[in-house]
Amino acid sequence: MNIRLRSTGFLGVFLVLLTACSSSTGALDTDESSGDAETVTEEESSDAATDVASDGLDVDLFFDGAFAEDVTTEDCTLSGGVEHTCYRVTVAGYPANREVGPFCPSSLTDDAEAGGIWFDGEQVYDVDGDFIASLAEIYGDGEWRLHDDDGNVYVIDSADGFEAAARPDVAEEYQNHCVEGRLEWLENGQPVTSTVLIPTEPVAADNPSETRGTRGVTLDGVVIAESAPVDAILGAYTIAAFDDCGGHFNPTEGYHMHGLTGCSERDVASEDESAVVGYAMDGYAIHSATEGVELDECNGHSTEDEGYHYHANSVEKNDVLPCLVGQTVAGEQGDGRPGGNGPAR
Ligand SMILES: [Zn+2]
Ligand SMILES: [Zn+2]
Repeated sequence: MNIRLRSTGFLGVFLVLLTACSSSTGALDTDESSGDAETVTEEESSDAATDVASDGLDVDLFFDGAFAEDVTTEDCTLSGGVEHTCYRVTVAGYPANREVGPFCPSSLTDDAEAGGIWFDGEQVYDVDGDFIASLAEIYGDGEWRLHDDDGNVYVIDSADGFEAAARPDVAEEYQNHCVEGRLEWLENGQPVTSTVLIPTEPVAADNPSETRGTRGVTLDGVVIAESAPVDAILGAYTIAAFDDCGGHFNPTEGYHMHGLTGCSERDVASEDESAVVGYAMDGYAIHSATEGVELDECNGHSTEDEGYHYHANSVEKNDVLPCLVGQTVAGEQGDGRPGGNGPAR
């Protein structure tokens, strides 16, 4: 994929992103087993709602294996105060349709096949040997040196190193490393599942909200996180490499997406539309990045066939969705994932 992207020269355009590693607008503490919510008390009044009509999340679009638990519905209160009905969606935390990685190359002679990608808000790079060798130049700082004299790349190779590299103050011994995680280093060696509440039918908000934390979920069962904390990562002379799909591991949240390059696409959209890749926390569909279409400030638009929907930002922006036009579940700022308030990478 790197190669294909590179050869097209359109990386920025076709890649989209997602971000955020940790705090989650949307990830909830799961304990209210309230359950039975059949009362749909919607308020279909607001003017805005007419502009942003949509059928909402379609559970059947998700890949087999995307959910760790059956999707259920329950009562929920949205950010604008509306009593509504939400889906309780628990994603598996590991893509249902593929293996993750690779992330870091092991040698300066490795090509793009051996590594993933890196994006920093401005550009997207193949994480290959040349990239590793060029970091001092790219970031204008001679302290960068992610390899030894023989051309071997310093890659985090233990669970302890992985934990240490995710902390805010990265110990010197783990600086100048390419950081990658492994499933086996997560707690119990298992994917980290995440539960979110998503309105069954989207409800427009009075104003677009700049959400922090979780932006949504992919159709293959992974959280779309907020922007990766690139300044902190680079400040520690680390590259927390993403795989070609735009995701990587951190110790507390497991595998999560910061960019969307199309790996979770379902080609169910109308002819002139890009494929659906996931759903945002307000219930609107997220399609792959697109060109030549006028989008609103939240990267969305309404079409006759699809209703209102978003398009993922191009990957280099390190921000899959800049804001949400719909209401999300109130009080979901709390982060339901263990240790999730830590330094999120
Ligand atoms: Zn569209
Ligand atoms: Zn991350």
